[in-house]
Amino acid sequence: MSEQLIRTANLAKTYGSGENAIRALDGVNLSVVRGEFLAVMGPSGCGKSTLLNMLGALDQPSAGEVWVAGENLARLKQVDRFRAKTVGFVFQLHNLLPTLSASENVEVPMEGYVDSRLQRRQRAAQLLEEVGLRSRRQALPSQLSGGQRQRVAVARALANDPALILADEPTGSLDSQSGEEILALLADLNRTRGTTIVIVTHDRRVAQSTQRIIRMHDGHIVGDHRLTDPMEEDLHALAHSRLGQALLGHNGLSPGYLSADEQAMLRRLLDRVETRERAEEEATSKQGPLPRT
Ligand code: ADP
Ligand code: MG
Repeated sequence: MSEQLIRTANLAKTYGSGENAIRALDGVNLSVVRGEFLAVMGPSGCGKSTLLNMLGALDQPSAGEVWVAGENLARLKQVDRFRAKTVGFVFQLHNLLPTLSASENVEVPMEGYVDSRLQRRQRAAQLLEEVGLRSRRQALPSQLSGGQRQRVAVARALANDPALILADEPTGSLDSQSGEEILALLADLNRTRGTTIVIVTHDRRVAQSTQRIIRMHDGHIVGDHRLTDPMEEDLHALAHSRLGQALLGHNGLSPGYLSADEQAMLRRLLDRVETRERAEEEATSKQGPLPRT
């Protein structure tokens, strides 16, 4: 299946006018097929959040067009419905309502779309289970860790089973362990539910575990790189797993249960993967500067 979920044509956004005008997006053409897991990278201020806001109909373009799930967003009749049903947002800061429990936060977007309170509650429980928080569903945001709050935010984004999840630096405010868990969760949702995910990130390792990386600079797309070979993807995933990172000596762990020969063999393989990743990254970055990390 290669049905297009997102298409933008000459998408532009200018903030302000005259001398103070800022061209946040300057002619962006992007196509995303259903089921893709895509990372958007680029230096601060290059237009990543602006792009995501356009895709989620949170803001309107100055020029050009955006189609999502067959709808031209400029002609949307029910913008609220589109935001609630077709897209789920996960932001850097979770934006949970502090006085509502985890479950109630997940139920909020269902109001008006899932009729009975009981059904909303049951669906929230099911989603919180999917993100590993079923037992904490009565907790207030202040009683949860940063990573757990972000899990609630992911469950909330899934409330109405959207075709598209837009995640703007969702791991940006988390420690690396919690960040990895959120990323693994998103990757899992992409695999099991087929949800299309667009994630903005500064983290090269995050980006490498997606299937496609878009690089932006000054409101333009300057790189579009796909990891298409499944074996290649598995190797990338292995290299970025705990085991892979241990073998490469990046996380201080020791896979002591492997023999020295096994470790050496795997390390040779992963060294090659890493060398190639660096080369690919350099090739992509020639089309635009590297993000500040
Ligand atoms: P990124 O997410 O890549 O860091 P943004 O999309 O937030 O970048 O911003 C792109 C550019 O647009 C920046 O120069 C930023 O200052 C500007 N910008 C973003 N939002 C606004 C706004 N509401 N008003 C004015 N300028 C804005
Ligand atoms: Mg941003």
